[in-house]
Amino acid sequence: MASKRVLIVGGVAGGASCAARLRRMDEEAEIVMFEKGPYVSFANCGLPYHVGDVIKEEGSLQVANPTLFRNRFNIDVRVNHEVTAIDREAKTVEVCDTHSGEVTTESYDTLVLSPGSKPIIPPIKGVDREGVFRCLTIPDTKAIREWIVSRQARSAVVIGGGYIGLEMAENLRHRGLEVMLVEMQPQVMPLLDPEMMTEVHAHLQEKGIHLRLGAQVQEIDGPEGGPLTVRLGTGEELEADLAIMAVGGRPNTDLAKAAGLEIGTTGGVATDDQMRTSDPNVFAVGDVAEIKDSITGRKALVPLAGPANRQGRVAADVIAGREAKFRGAQSTAVVGVFDLTVATTGSSEKQLRRAGVPFQKVYLFPGNHVGYYPGAQPIHLKVLFRPKDGQLLSAQAVGRAGVEKRIDVIATLIQMGGTVFDMEEVELCYAPQFGAAKDPVNMAGFIAANHLRGDSPLTHWDDVAEAEGDPLIVDVREPEEFEAGHVEGAINVPLSQMRDRLDELPKDREVWCHCGVGQRSYYAVRVLRQNGIDARNLSGGMNEYMRQK
Ligand code: FAD
Repeated sequence: MASKRVLIVGGVAGGASCAARLRRMDEEAEIVMFEKGPYVSFANCGLPYHVGDVIKEEGSLQVANPTLFRNRFNIDVRVNHEVTAIDREAKTVEVCDTHSGEVTTESYDTLVLSPGSKPIIPPIKGVDREGVFRCLTIPDTKAIREWIVSRQARSAVVIGGGYIGLEMAENLRHRGLEVMLVEMQPQVMPLLDPEMMTEVHAHLQEKGIHLRLGAQVQEIDGPEGGPLTVRLGTGEELEADLAIMAVGGRPNTDLAKAAGLEIGTTGGVATDDQMRTSDPNVFAVGDVAEIKDSITGRKALVPLAGPANRQGRVAADVIAGREAKFRGAQSTAVVGVFDLTVATTGSSEKQLRRAGVPFQKVYLFPGNHVGYYPGAQPIHLKVLFRPKDGQLLSAQAVGRAGVEKRIDVIATLIQMGGTVFDMEEVELCYAPQFGAAKDPVNMAGFIAANHLRGDSPLTHWDDVAEAEGDPLIVDVREPEEFEAGHVEGAINVPLSQMRDRLDELPKDREVWCHCGVGQRSYYAVRVLRQNGIDARNLSGGMNEYMRQK
Protein backbone atom coordinates (compact mmCIF):
# COMPACT_ATOMS: atom_id res chain seq x y z
CA MET A 1 0.00 0.00 0.00
CA ALA A 2 1.31 3.45 -0.89
CA SER A 3 2.24 5.58 2.13
CA LYS A 4 -0.09 8.43 2.93
CA ARG A 5 0.85 11.94 1.86
CA VAL A 6 0.34 14.64 4.48
CA LEU A 7 0.71 18.30 3.57
CA ILE A 8 1.04 20.92 6.28
CA VAL A 9 0.41 24.63 5.70
CA GLY A 10 2.43 26.82 8.09
CA GLY A 11 5.73 25.79 9.61
CA VAL A 12 5.81 27.32 13.06
CA ALA A 13 4.09 26.37 16.33
CA GLY A 14 1.16 24.15 15.31
CA GLY A 15 2.50 23.06 11.90
CA ALA A 16 6.02 22.13 12.98
CA SER A 17 4.79 20.38 16.09
CA CYS A 18 2.31 18.37 14.02
CA ALA A 19 4.96 17.43 11.45
CA ALA A 20 7.52 16.23 13.97
CA ARG A 21 4.98 14.31 16.06
CA LEU A 22 3.52 12.65 12.98
CA ARG A 23 6.92 11.37 11.97
CA ARG A 24 7.41 9.90 15.44
CA MET A 25 4.06 8.12 15.12
CA ASP A 26 4.31 7.11 11.46
CA GLU A 27 7.64 6.33 9.87
CA GLU A 28 6.04 5.70 6.47
CA ALA A 29 4.00 8.85 5.85
CA GLU A 30 5.29 11.35 3.32
CA ILE A 31 5.23 14.70 5.13
CA VAL A 32 5.64 18.01 3.34
CA MET A 33 5.45 21.29 5.24
CA PHE A 34 4.99 24.60 3.39
CA GLU A 35 5.98 27.87 4.96
CA LYS A 36 5.50 31.11 3.08
CA GLY A 37 8.12 32.94 5.11
CA PRO A 38 11.88 32.32 5.10
CA TYR A 39 11.98 30.47 8.44
CA VAL A 40 10.27 27.51 10.07
CA SER A 41 9.88 26.71 13.71
CA PHE A 42 11.01 30.13 14.87
CA ALA A 43 10.32 31.51 18.31
CA ASN A 44 7.60 34.17 17.78
CA CYS A 45 7.38 34.53 21.54
CA GLY A 46 11.01 35.69 21.66
CA LEU A 47 10.67 38.38 18.97
CA PRO A 48 10.09 41.38 21.27
CA TYR A 49 13.16 40.40 23.30
CA HIS A 50 15.31 40.37 20.16
CA VAL A 51 14.09 43.89 19.39
CA GLY A 52 15.14 44.81 22.94
CA ASP A 53 18.54 43.16 22.44
CA VAL A 54 17.91 40.85 25.38
CA ILE A 55 18.15 37.99 22.88
CA LYS A 56 21.18 39.24 20.99
CA GLU A 57 21.47 36.81 18.11
CA GLU A 58 18.74 36.41 15.51
CA GLY A 59 19.90 32.80 15.10
CA SER A 60 18.78 32.04 18.67
CA LEU A 61 15.18 32.53 17.51
CA GLN A 62 15.49 29.79 14.92
CA VAL A 63 14.69 26.69 16.87
CA ALA A 64 14.96 24.40 13.82
CA ASN A 65 15.57 24.67 10.09
CA PRO A 66 14.69 22.71 6.94
CA THR A 67 17.96 20.71 7.07
CA LEU A 68 17.28 19.61 10.62
CA PHE A 69 13.73 18.60 9.66
CA ARG A 70 15.13 16.63 6.71
CA ASN A 71 17.96 14.93 8.60
CA ARG A 72 16.29 14.28 11.89
CA PHE A 73 12.69 13.65 10.87
CA ASN A 74 12.73 12.96 7.13
CA ILE A 75 10.29 15.84 6.62
CA ASP A 76 10.31 17.83 3.41
CA VAL A 77 10.19 21.50 4.44
CA ARG A 78 9.69 24.11 1.76
CA VAL A 79 10.23 27.64 2.97
CA ASN A 80 9.22 30.61 0.81
CA HIS A 81 6.36 28.48 -0.48
CA GLU A 82 2.86 29.83 -0.03
CA VAL A 83 -0.19 27.61 -0.35
CA THR A 84 -2.61 29.74 -2.34
CA ALA A 85 -5.62 27.44 -2.86
CA ILE A 86 -7.13 24.14 -1.81
CA ASP A 87 -9.15 21.87 -4.13
CA ARG A 88 -10.89 19.55 -1.69
CA GLU A 89 -12.55 17.50 -4.42
CA ALA A 90 -9.26 16.73 -6.15
CA LYS A 91 -7.41 16.70 -2.79
CA THR A 92 -4.73 19.05 -4.06
CA VAL A 93 -3.27 22.39 -3.09
CA GLU A 94 -1.78 25.09 -5.26
CA VAL A 95 1.63 26.25 -4.08
CA CYS A 96 3.50 29.37 -5.13
CA ASP A 97 7.29 29.60 -4.78
CA THR A 98 7.48 33.18 -3.53
CA HIS A 99 11.00 33.62 -4.93
CA SER A 100 10.59 32.28 -8.46
CA GLY A 101 6.84 32.83 -8.77
CA GLU A 102 6.48 29.24 -9.99
CA VAL A 103 3.11 27.67 -9.16
CA THR A 104 2.75 23.92 -8.67
CA THR A 105 -0.02 21.55 -7.64
CA GLU A 106 0.53 19.08 -4.82
CA SER A 107 -1.77 16.24 -3.91
CA TYR A 108 -2.60 15.10 -0.41
CA ASP A 109 -4.34 12.37 1.49
CA THR A 110 -4.52 14.57 4.56
CA LEU A 111 -4.08 18.33 4.83
CA VAL A 112 -3.24 20.22 8.04
CA LEU A 113 -3.84 23.96 8.21
CA SER A 114 -1.75 25.92 10.68
CA PRO A 115 -1.44 29.35 9.04
CA GLY A 116 -1.73 31.26 12.32
CA SER A 117 -3.28 34.70 12.72
CA LYS A 118 -3.54 37.69 10.44
CA PRO A 119 -2.78 41.02 12.03
CA ILE A 120 -5.75 43.31 12.49
CA ILE A 121 -5.17 46.44 10.43
CA PRO A 122 -7.32 49.14 11.97
CA PRO A 123 -8.73 51.78 9.65
CA ILE A 124 -6.18 54.39 10.64
CA LYS A 125 -4.93 56.82 8.03
CA GLY A 126 -1.18 56.41 7.63
CA VAL A 127 -1.02 52.93 9.17
CA ASP A 128 1.11 51.75 6.24
CA ARG A 129 3.61 54.61 6.42
CA GLU A 130 7.33 54.04 6.59
CA GLY A 131 8.34 53.74 10.22
CA VAL A 132 5.17 51.91 11.28
CA PHE A 133 5.98 48.29 12.12
CA ARG A 134 4.44 45.08 13.34
CA CYS A 135 6.40 42.49 15.25
CA LEU A 136 5.19 39.10 14.08
CA THR A 137 8.12 37.60 12.20
CA ILE A 138 11.91 37.53 12.22
CA PRO A 139 12.04 39.90 9.20
CA ASP A 140 9.81 42.30 11.20
CA THR A 141 12.31 42.34 14.09
CA LYS A 142 15.18 42.82 11.67
CA ALA A 143 13.42 45.82 10.12
CA ILE A 144 12.69 47.39 13.53
CA ARG A 145 16.25 46.86 14.76
CA GLU A 146 17.72 48.33 11.58
CA TRP A 147 15.37 51.33 11.74
CA ILE A 148 16.30 52.06 15.34
CA VAL A 149 20.01 52.02 14.50
CA SER A 150 19.93 53.76 11.10
CA ARG A 151 17.55 56.52 12.25
CA GLN A 152 19.12 56.77 15.70
CA ALA A 153 15.58 56.44 16.96
CA ARG A 154 14.93 57.97 20.34
CA SER A 155 11.20 57.55 20.73
CA ALA A 156 8.43 55.12 19.85
CA VAL A 157 4.67 54.86 20.08
CA VAL A 158 3.33 51.39 20.75
CA ILE A 159 -0.29 51.05 19.69
CA GLY A 160 -2.11 48.34 21.65
CA GLY A 161 -1.70 47.36 25.29
CA GLY A 162 -2.12 43.60 25.04
CA TYR A 163 0.75 41.32 25.97
CA ILE A 164 2.70 41.88 22.73
CA GLY A 165 2.31 45.66 23.08
CA LEU A 166 3.54 45.50 26.67
CA GLU A 167 6.51 43.34 25.72
CA MET A 168 7.39 45.72 22.90
CA ALA A 169 7.07 48.75 25.20
CA GLU A 170 9.39 47.18 27.74
CA ASN A 171 11.94 46.13 25.14
CA LEU A 172 12.02 49.48 23.37
CA ARG A 173 12.52 51.15 26.75
CA HIS A 174 15.26 48.66 27.44
CA ARG A 175 17.00 50.01 24.33
CA GLY A 176 16.78 53.50 25.78
CA LEU A 177 13.86 54.81 23.73
CA GLU A 178 11.19 57.11 25.10
CA VAL A 179 8.04 55.00 24.85
CA MET A 180 4.39 56.02 24.64
CA LEU A 181 1.81 53.25 24.91
CA VAL A 182 -1.65 53.91 23.50
CA GLU A 183 -4.53 51.61 24.40
CA MET A 184 -8.14 52.08 23.35
CA GLN A 185 -9.56 50.45 26.49
CA PRO A 186 -9.20 52.10 29.90
CA GLN A 187 -6.69 49.39 30.93
CA VAL A 188 -3.80 47.41 29.51
CA MET A 189 -4.30 43.64 29.09
CA PRO A 190 -7.98 44.25 28.27
CA LEU A 191 -8.90 40.57 28.67
CA LEU A 192 -8.08 40.69 32.38
CA ASP A 193 -10.09 42.42 35.07
CA PRO A 194 -9.45 46.15 35.53
CA GLU A 195 -8.62 46.05 39.25
CA MET A 196 -5.79 43.62 38.51
CA MET A 197 -4.15 46.22 36.26
CA THR A 198 -3.95 49.15 38.71
CA GLU A 199 -0.51 48.14 39.88
CA VAL A 200 0.61 47.36 36.32
CA HIS A 201 -0.33 50.88 35.19
CA ALA A 202 1.59 52.42 38.09
CA HIS A 203 4.61 50.23 37.39
CA LEU A 204 4.66 51.07 33.68
CA GLN A 205 4.65 54.76 34.56
CA GLU A 206 7.40 54.23 37.14
CA LYS A 207 9.48 52.66 34.37
CA GLY A 208 9.00 55.70 32.17
CA ILE A 209 6.27 54.45 29.84
CA HIS A 210 3.89 57.27 28.96
CA LEU A 211 0.46 55.65 29.11
CA ARG A 212 -2.45 56.87 27.05
CA LEU A 213 -5.40 54.73 28.13
CA GLY A 214 -8.87 55.01 26.67
CA ALA A 215 -7.33 56.74 23.68
CA GLN A 216 -7.77 55.78 20.07
CA VAL A 217 -5.24 56.48 17.34
CA GLN A 218 -6.92 58.35 14.50
CA GLU A 219 -4.08 59.10 12.13
CA ILE A 220 -0.36 58.60 11.67
CA ASP A 221 1.22 61.44 9.82
CA GLY A 222 4.53 63.27 9.45
CA PRO A 223 7.00 64.52 6.84
CA GLU A 224 8.67 62.06 4.44
CA GLY A 225 11.69 60.55 6.20
CA GLY A 226 10.97 62.54 9.34
CA PRO A 227 9.38 61.70 12.68
CA LEU A 228 5.86 60.37 12.86
CA THR A 229 2.95 62.26 14.36
CA VAL A 230 0.45 59.93 15.96
CA ARG A 231 -2.85 61.75 16.35
CA LEU A 232 -5.21 60.53 19.06
CA GLY A 233 -8.97 60.87 19.30
CA THR A 234 -8.40 63.01 22.38
CA GLY A 235 -6.76 65.61 20.16
CA GLU A 236 -3.30 64.89 21.51
CA GLU A 237 -0.42 64.46 19.06
CA LEU A 238 2.48 62.16 19.91
CA GLU A 239 5.72 62.58 18.03
CA ALA A 240 7.95 59.54 17.61
CA ASP A 241 10.65 58.04 15.43
CA LEU A 242 8.73 54.81 14.96
CA ALA A 243 5.40 53.21 15.78
CA ILE A 244 4.57 49.58 16.52
CA MET A 245 1.12 48.26 15.71
CA ALA A 246 0.22 45.63 18.29
CA VAL A 247 -3.54 45.60 18.13
CA GLY A 248 -3.94 41.85 17.86
CA GLY A 249 -4.85 39.38 15.20
CA ARG A 250 -7.65 37.29 13.73
CA PRO A 251 -7.60 33.68 12.55
CA ASN A 252 -6.01 33.50 9.12
CA THR A 253 -8.96 31.76 7.47
CA ASP A 254 -8.52 32.96 3.87
CA LEU A 255 -7.57 29.54 2.49
CA ALA A 256 -10.17 27.69 4.55
CA LYS A 257 -12.96 30.07 3.57
CA ALA A 258 -12.10 29.90 -0.11
CA ALA A 259 -12.13 26.11 0.14
CA GLY A 260 -15.61 26.16 1.67
CA LEU A 261 -14.58 24.79 5.07
CA GLU A 262 -16.97 25.63 7.89
CA ILE A 263 -16.07 28.76 9.83
CA GLY A 264 -17.29 28.89 13.42
CA THR A 265 -19.12 31.67 15.21
CA THR A 266 -15.87 33.04 16.65
CA GLY A 267 -14.40 33.45 13.16
CA GLY A 268 -11.98 30.51 13.44
CA VAL A 269 -12.10 27.32 11.38
CA ALA A 270 -14.61 25.01 13.07
CA THR A 271 -12.90 21.88 14.43
CA ASP A 272 -13.98 18.84 16.42
CA ASP A 273 -12.10 17.50 19.42
CA GLN A 274 -9.68 15.70 17.10
CA MET A 275 -8.87 18.96 15.28
CA ARG A 276 -10.76 17.84 12.16
CA THR A 277 -12.49 20.52 10.13
CA SER A 278 -15.85 20.06 8.38
CA ASP A 279 -13.86 18.04 5.78
CA PRO A 280 -12.57 14.82 7.40
CA ASN A 281 -9.40 14.98 5.29
CA VAL A 282 -8.50 18.47 6.49
CA PHE A 283 -7.32 19.38 10.00
CA ALA A 284 -6.85 22.86 11.45
CA VAL A 285 -4.64 23.66 14.44
CA GLY A 286 -3.29 26.71 16.24
CA ASP A 287 -4.50 30.29 16.01
CA VAL A 288 -6.67 29.53 12.97
CA ALA A 289 -8.78 26.93 14.76
CA GLU A 290 -11.95 27.48 16.72
CA ILE A 291 -11.78 25.24 19.75
CA LYS A 292 -13.70 24.63 22.97
CA ASP A 293 -13.15 26.75 26.06
CA SER A 294 -12.68 23.94 28.54
CA ILE A 295 -14.24 25.96 31.37
CA THR A 296 -17.34 27.49 29.82
CA GLY A 297 -17.72 24.77 27.17
CA ARG A 298 -18.25 27.53 24.61
CA LYS A 299 -16.51 27.93 21.27
CA ALA A 300 -13.36 30.00 21.63
CA LEU A 301 -10.19 31.28 20.02
CA VAL A 302 -7.11 30.80 22.19
CA PRO A 303 -4.17 32.16 20.19
CA LEU A 304 -1.34 30.89 22.39
CA ALA A 305 1.71 28.76 21.74
CA GLY A 306 0.93 25.95 24.21
CA PRO A 307 -2.51 25.12 22.80
CA ALA A 308 -1.15 25.39 19.22
CA ASN A 309 1.57 22.86 19.99
CA ARG A 310 -0.83 20.49 21.73
CA GLN A 311 -3.34 20.72 18.90
CA GLY A 312 -0.55 19.93 16.42
CA ARG A 313 0.27 16.80 18.42
CA VAL A 314 -3.37 15.71 18.63
CA ALA A 315 -3.86 16.15 14.87
CA ALA A 316 -0.69 14.13 14.23
CA ASP A 317 -1.83 11.31 16.52
CA VAL A 318 -5.25 11.18 14.87
CA ILE A 319 -3.70 11.17 11.39
CA ALA A 320 -1.48 8.30 12.55
CA GLY A 321 -4.59 6.37 13.58
CA ARG A 322 -4.58 7.00 17.32
CA GLU A 323 -7.55 8.00 19.46
CA ALA A 324 -6.18 11.34 20.64
CA LYS A 325 -8.47 14.18 21.68
CA PHE A 326 -7.93 17.86 22.39
CA ARG A 327 -9.77 18.64 25.58
CA GLY A 328 -10.03 22.36 25.05
CA ALA A 329 -8.05 25.32 26.30
CA GLN A 330 -8.46 27.71 29.20
CA SER A 331 -6.20 30.60 28.13
CA THR A 332 -3.38 30.14 30.63
CA ALA A 333 -0.91 32.93 29.96
CA VAL A 334 1.85 34.96 31.53
CA VAL A 335 3.55 38.21 30.65
CA GLY A 336 6.50 40.02 32.16
CA VAL A 337 6.02 43.77 32.58
CA PHE A 338 9.45 45.04 33.71
CA ASP A 339 9.70 43.84 37.34
CA LEU A 340 6.13 42.56 37.48
CA THR A 341 4.67 39.27 36.35
CA VAL A 342 1.04 39.09 35.28
CA ALA A 343 -0.45 35.63 34.89
CA THR A 344 -3.91 34.28 34.26
CA THR A 345 -5.81 31.07 33.67
CA GLY A 346 -9.45 30.76 32.64
CA SER A 347 -11.97 33.50 31.93
CA SER A 348 -11.81 36.81 33.71
CA GLU A 349 -14.72 38.06 35.82
CA LYS A 350 -15.93 40.26 33.00
CA GLN A 351 -15.85 37.34 30.54
CA LEU A 352 -17.78 35.11 32.96
CA ARG A 353 -20.35 37.86 33.45
CA ARG A 354 -20.74 38.20 29.70
CA ALA A 355 -21.13 34.43 29.35
CA GLY A 356 -23.70 34.38 32.18
CA VAL A 357 -21.63 31.94 34.24
CA PRO A 358 -22.37 32.23 37.99
CA PHE A 359 -19.23 32.77 40.08
CA GLN A 360 -17.91 33.82 43.47
CA LYS A 361 -14.47 35.34 43.92
CA VAL A 362 -11.72 35.81 46.47
CA TYR A 363 -8.96 38.39 46.59
CA LEU A 364 -5.84 38.00 48.65
CA PHE A 365 -2.34 39.44 48.93
CA PRO A 366 -0.11 36.65 50.27
CA GLY A 367 3.68 36.90 50.19
CA ASN A 368 5.50 34.86 47.57
CA HIS A 369 7.30 33.29 50.52
CA VAL A 370 7.22 33.60 54.30
CA GLY A 371 7.62 37.15 55.58
CA TYR A 372 10.48 36.34 57.95
CA TYR A 373 12.75 35.34 55.08
CA PRO A 374 14.21 38.49 53.47
CA GLY A 375 12.74 39.80 50.26
CA ALA A 376 9.14 38.59 50.48
CA GLN A 377 6.92 40.22 47.85
CA PRO A 378 3.13 40.31 47.86
CA ILE A 379 1.12 38.60 45.15
CA HIS A 380 -2.23 40.11 44.22
CA LEU A 381 -4.26 36.96 43.64
CA LYS A 382 -7.86 36.66 42.48
CA VAL A 383 -9.57 33.29 42.20
CA LEU A 384 -13.02 32.68 40.75
CA PHE A 385 -15.08 29.58 41.51
CA ARG A 386 -18.56 28.16 41.08
CA PRO A 387 -20.79 29.03 44.05
CA LYS A 388 -22.78 25.81 44.04
CA ASP A 389 -19.89 23.37 44.49
CA GLY A 390 -16.62 25.31 44.61
CA GLN A 391 -15.44 24.16 41.17
CA LEU A 392 -12.49 26.33 40.19
CA LEU A 393 -13.13 28.58 37.19
CA SER A 394 -10.15 30.89 36.84
CA ALA A 395 -7.42 32.92 38.50
CA GLN A 396 -5.36 36.04 37.87
CA ALA A 397 -2.25 37.18 39.69
CA VAL A 398 0.15 40.12 39.67
CA GLY A 399 3.37 40.44 41.62
CA ARG A 400 7.14 40.42 41.49
CA ALA A 401 7.91 36.80 42.29
CA GLY A 402 6.19 33.43 42.50
CA VAL A 403 3.24 34.58 40.39
CA GLU A 404 3.39 32.11 37.51
CA LYS A 405 4.01 29.21 39.89
CA ARG A 406 0.69 29.83 41.66
CA ILE A 407 -1.23 30.31 38.43
CA ASP A 408 0.28 27.13 36.98
CA VAL A 409 -0.78 25.15 40.05
CA ILE A 410 -4.30 26.55 39.86
CA ALA A 411 -4.39 25.97 36.08
CA THR A 412 -3.50 22.32 36.66
CA LEU A 413 -6.17 21.97 39.33
CA ILE A 414 -8.72 23.49 36.96
CA GLN A 415 -7.74 21.03 34.23
CA MET A 416 -8.25 18.16 36.64
CA GLY A 417 -11.72 19.47 37.55
CA GLY A 418 -10.49 20.69 40.95
CA THR A 419 -12.46 22.66 43.51
CA VAL A 420 -11.57 25.19 46.16
CA PHE A 421 -11.58 22.25 48.60
CA ASP A 422 -8.80 20.65 46.52
CA MET A 423 -6.98 23.96 46.74
CA GLU A 424 -7.08 23.74 50.52
CA GLU A 425 -5.58 20.26 50.38
CA VAL A 426 -3.03 20.61 47.59
CA GLU A 427 0.45 19.76 48.85
CA LEU A 428 3.15 22.06 47.50
CA CYS A 429 6.85 22.25 48.17
CA TYR A 430 8.01 24.62 50.88
CA ALA A 431 11.19 26.10 52.33
CA PRO A 432 11.35 29.70 53.64
CA GLN A 433 12.86 31.20 50.48
CA PHE A 434 10.29 29.55 48.19
CA GLY A 435 6.87 29.65 49.79
CA ALA A 436 5.01 29.05 53.00
CA ALA A 437 3.73 26.00 54.81
CA LYS A 438 0.34 27.43 53.89
CA ASP A 439 1.06 28.35 50.30
CA PRO A 440 -0.87 31.22 48.64
CA VAL A 441 -2.75 28.53 46.71
CA ASN A 442 -3.82 26.88 49.99
CA MET A 443 -4.72 30.29 51.43
CA ALA A 444 -7.00 31.07 48.49
CA GLY A 445 -8.60 27.66 49.02
CA PHE A 446 -9.13 28.29 52.74
CA ILE A 447 -10.82 31.64 52.09
CA ALA A 448 -13.08 30.27 49.37
CA ALA A 449 -13.94 27.12 51.32
CA ASN A 450 -14.64 29.19 54.46
CA HIS A 451 -17.13 31.11 52.38
CA LEU A 452 -18.84 28.02 51.00
CA ARG A 453 -19.03 26.38 54.42
CA GLY A 454 -20.55 29.56 55.84
CA ASP A 455 -17.69 30.02 58.31
CA SER A 456 -16.65 33.35 56.87
CA PRO A 457 -18.96 34.49 54.09
CA LEU A 458 -17.37 36.83 51.59
CA THR A 459 -18.56 40.10 50.29
CA HIS A 460 -16.95 42.60 47.94
CA TRP A 461 -16.44 46.31 47.55
CA ASP A 462 -18.47 46.31 44.37
CA ASP A 463 -21.38 44.88 46.42
CA VAL A 464 -21.38 47.82 48.82
CA ALA A 465 -23.22 50.20 46.52
CA GLU A 466 -25.93 47.67 45.70
CA ALA A 467 -26.27 46.14 49.17
CA GLU A 468 -29.78 45.94 50.44
CA GLY A 469 -30.37 46.01 54.17
CA ASP A 470 -27.69 48.63 54.61
CA PRO A 471 -24.78 46.66 56.03
CA LEU A 472 -22.59 48.22 58.69
CA ILE A 473 -18.98 48.47 57.52
CA VAL A 474 -16.56 47.76 60.34
CA ASP A 475 -12.87 48.50 59.94
CA VAL A 476 -11.08 46.12 62.32
CA ARG A 477 -7.62 47.66 61.99
CA GLU A 478 -5.96 49.51 64.84
CA PRO A 479 -7.09 53.14 65.49
CA GLU A 480 -3.90 54.67 64.06
CA GLU A 481 -4.40 52.75 60.80
CA PHE A 482 -8.04 53.86 60.69
CA GLU A 483 -7.05 57.49 61.25
CA ALA A 484 -4.50 57.33 58.46
CA GLY A 485 -7.31 56.69 55.98
CA HIS A 486 -10.58 54.82 55.97
CA VAL A 487 -13.65 54.14 53.93
CA GLU A 488 -16.44 56.67 54.25
CA GLY A 489 -19.18 55.45 56.59
CA ALA A 490 -17.03 52.74 58.22
CA ILE A 491 -16.79 52.50 61.99
CA ASN A 492 -13.60 51.34 63.73
CA VAL A 493 -13.77 48.37 66.08
CA PRO A 494 -10.23 46.96 66.16
CA LEU A 495 -9.89 43.20 66.30
CA SER A 496 -7.88 43.59 69.50
CA GLN A 497 -10.96 45.18 71.20
CA MET A 498 -13.68 43.22 69.44
CA ARG A 499 -14.55 40.75 72.18
CA ASP A 500 -15.06 43.63 74.65
CA ARG A 501 -17.14 45.74 72.28
CA LEU A 502 -19.61 43.19 70.97
CA ASP A 503 -22.54 45.27 72.35
CA GLU A 504 -21.75 48.03 69.86
CA LEU A 505 -22.45 45.74 66.91
CA PRO A 506 -25.99 45.10 65.65
CA LYS A 507 -27.63 41.67 65.50
CA ASP A 508 -30.40 42.79 63.13
CA ARG A 509 -28.13 43.99 60.35
CA GLU A 510 -25.26 42.51 58.36
CA VAL A 511 -21.79 43.54 59.53
CA TRP A 512 -19.18 43.72 56.80
CA CYS A 513 -15.67 43.60 58.24
CA HIS A 514 -12.47 44.63 56.59
CA CYS A 515 -8.84 45.20 57.49
CA GLY A 516 -5.76 45.74 55.32
CA VAL A 517 -5.91 42.57 53.21
CA GLY A 518 -8.64 40.39 54.73
CA GLN A 519 -6.84 38.33 57.36
CA ARG A 520 -7.64 40.19 60.60
CA SER A 521 -11.17 40.74 59.33
CA TYR A 522 -11.48 36.96 58.91
CA TYR A 523 -10.57 36.52 62.57
CA ALA A 524 -13.10 39.23 63.45
CA VAL A 525 -15.81 37.54 61.38
CA ARG A 526 -15.24 34.30 63.29
CA VAL A 527 -15.56 36.10 66.63
CA LEU A 528 -18.74 37.87 65.54
CA ARG A 529 -20.44 34.89 63.92
CA GLN A 530 -19.88 32.82 67.06
CA ASN A 531 -21.63 35.61 68.96
CA GLY A 532 -24.75 35.62 66.82
CA ILE A 533 -23.78 38.50 64.53
CA ASP A 534 -24.23 38.08 60.77
CA ALA A 535 -20.69 39.12 59.84
CA ARG A 536 -19.04 38.92 56.44
CA ASN A 537 -15.52 39.52 55.21
CA LEU A 538 -14.85 42.21 52.60
CA SER A 539 -12.45 40.29 50.41
CA GLY A 540 -9.01 41.80 49.92
CA GLY A 541 -9.61 44.57 52.50
CA MET A 542 -8.28 48.10 52.00
CA ASN A 543 -5.73 46.89 49.47
CA GLU A 544 -8.52 45.80 47.17
CA TYR A 545 -10.61 48.88 47.96
CA MET A 546 -7.76 51.15 46.83
CA ARG A 547 -7.52 49.25 43.54
CA GLN A 548 -11.24 49.37 42.84
CA LYS A 549 -12.16 52.87 43.87
P1 FAD B 1 2.19 30.53 13.73
O1 FAD B 1 3.12 30.01 14.74
O2 FAD B 1 2.03 32.00 13.63
O3 FAD B 1 2.61 29.95 12.34
C1 FAD B 1 1.86 30.19 11.18
C2 FAD B 1 2.81 30.17 10.00
O4 FAD B 1 2.04 29.90 8.84
C3 FAD B 1 3.49 31.51 9.75
O5 FAD B 1 4.89 31.36 9.78
C4 FAD B 1 3.00 31.93 8.37
O6 FAD B 1 4.01 32.54 7.59
C5 FAD B 1 2.62 30.60 7.76
N1 FAD B 1 1.59 30.71 6.72
C6 FAD B 1 0.44 31.42 6.77
N2 FAD B 1 -0.28 31.24 5.64
C7 FAD B 1 0.44 30.40 4.86
C8 FAD B 1 0.22 29.85 3.58
N3 FAD B 1 -0.88 30.12 2.89
N4 FAD B 1 1.16 29.03 3.08
C9 FAD B 1 2.30 28.74 3.78
N5 FAD B 1 2.55 29.24 5.00
C10 FAD B 1 1.62 30.06 5.54
N6 FAD B 1 2.07 32.71 22.81
C11 FAD B 1 2.32 32.28 24.07
O7 FAD B 1 1.71 31.31 24.50
N7 FAD B 1 3.27 32.90 24.85
C12 FAD B 1 3.99 33.96 24.40
O8 FAD B 1 4.85 34.49 25.13
C13 FAD B 1 3.73 34.44 23.10
N8 FAD B 1 4.41 35.51 22.62
C14 FAD B 1 4.19 35.92 21.35
C15 FAD B 1 4.90 37.02 20.88
C16 FAD B 1 4.69 37.47 19.59
C17 FAD B 1 5.47 38.65 19.11
C18 FAD B 1 3.78 36.79 18.75
C19 FAD B 1 3.57 37.26 17.34
C20 FAD B 1 3.05 35.72 19.21
C21 FAD B 1 3.25 35.27 20.51
N9 FAD B 1 2.52 34.19 21.03
C22 FAD B 1 2.76 33.77 22.31
C23 FAD B 1 1.46 33.53 20.25
C24 FAD B 1 1.97 32.27 19.61
O9 FAD B 1 3.18 32.53 18.98
C25 FAD B 1 0.93 31.73 18.63
O10 FAD B 1 -0.26 31.48 19.33
C26 FAD B 1 1.39 30.48 17.94
O11 FAD B 1 2.60 30.68 17.26
C27 FAD B 1 0.32 30.02 16.94
O12 FAD B 1 0.78 28.93 16.22
P2 FAD B 1 0.27 28.68 14.75
O13 FAD B 1 0.97 27.47 14.24
O14 FAD B 1 -1.19 28.72 14.72
O15 FAD B 1 0.73 29.95 13.94
